[in-house]
Amino acid sequence: MNKNKTVSAAPQVLPALPYADSALAPVISANTIGFHYGKHHKGYVDNLNKLAAGTEFAELTLEEIIAATAGKADKAAIFNNASQAWNHAFYWRSLAPKGGGKPPAALQKKIAAAFGTLEACKKELAAAATTQFGSGWAWLALDGGKLKVVKTGNADSPLTMGLKPLLTIDVWEHAYYLDYQNRRADYVGAVLDTLINWEFAAENLG
Ligand code: MN
Repeated sequence: MNKNKTVSAAPQVLPALPYADSALAPVISANTIGFHYGKHHKGYVDNLNKLAAGTEFAELTLEEIIAATAGKADKAAIFNNASQAWNHAFYWRSLAPKGGGKPPAALQKKIAAAFGTLEACKKELAAAATTQFGSGWAWLALDGGKLKVVKTGNADSPLTMGLKPLLTIDVWEHAYYLDYQNRRADYVGAVLDTLINWEFAAENLG
């Protein structure tokens, strides 16, 4: 819980991208990032601030808003925008210009325990990402002490399932359509091979 009112009373802020908008090209173009970060992600943050203004949610952190609104039909709009704001900030950090490669040792050990090999882990992530029907997300998450791959629809995230997210891949069409059109599997494969940020996932092991 964030008790610092000076910080928590401020509207939610669009976090800076952790790299230049061209840094993920050619796998994800600057054009895609321009719309995805500059329009979609910004839109969720702006909508959330409009919905939260003057309500009990105005002084809460993003995580607190998500926890307070999850599963409540009359709070769906604020939940969707808050969760999408969180998911996108997490997605940008799940990618890195020189990603892919091998996970740090501590994460590699957990991957071996849960999936056997890194390839098997990537295969499971790719399967989750490509079989998510419609818009959503594929995640590597911690379930207790064990790694698990999960997929969520629309704005949902493992945060409300009692899981600790380690990394995510956005599989909404806006994440890949300008670069890959209908070829979601090509986008997912390229992300897993060259952009996925295993260091970030390892940091999230805590
Ligand atoms: Mn997105």
